[in-house]
Amino acid sequence: MEEASTRGRTAAQLRSVGLKVTAPRIAVFEALIGTGHLDAHTVHERIVGELPGTSLQSVYNVLDALHGAGLLRRIEPAGSPALYERRTGDNHHHVVCTRCRAVGDVDCVVGEPPCLAPTDAGGFAIHTAEVTFWGLCADCRRQPEASAQPEASA
Ligand SMILES: [Zn+2]
Ligand SMILES: [Zn+2]
Repeated sequence: MEEASTRGRTAAQLRSVGLKVTAPRIAVFEALIGTGHLDAHTVHERIVGELPGTSLQSVYNVLDALHGAGLLRRIEPAGSPALYERRTGDNHHHVVCTRCRAVGDVDCVVGEPPCLAPTDAGGFAIHTAEVTFWGLCADCRRQPEASAQPEASA
């Protein structure tokens, strides 16, 4: 019997990579649907309503397990906590806003890894180039030079 629900699909995905299906794993994996890149704190905030009593540490553990099983990709832009996303396996890169830390996906420059190769790899066989582009996001570009101003509403 096929379960067409999101929950059923999520459970099947967990099983397909050999992970036991648990409520926190389902909640964490589903919290990342369509959201781009979230850190553990944000994931925790999103699931704690559904699963009260879930600790931040257990969210870290679940993210680790999902990442280890290949269901999540983890990126760690300099100065940001580790961010998790469901878009895996396509060698895409990231663009990070230097002002607000918004993170966007950009497709692989060439289309397959490694999309950049050093002129001299020093004997290494290169399999991946993880590129982070830095700049100002569209929202921040629209705002006047306000970077020196602390946020008024605390
Ligand atoms: Zn920004
Ligand atoms: Zn991404």
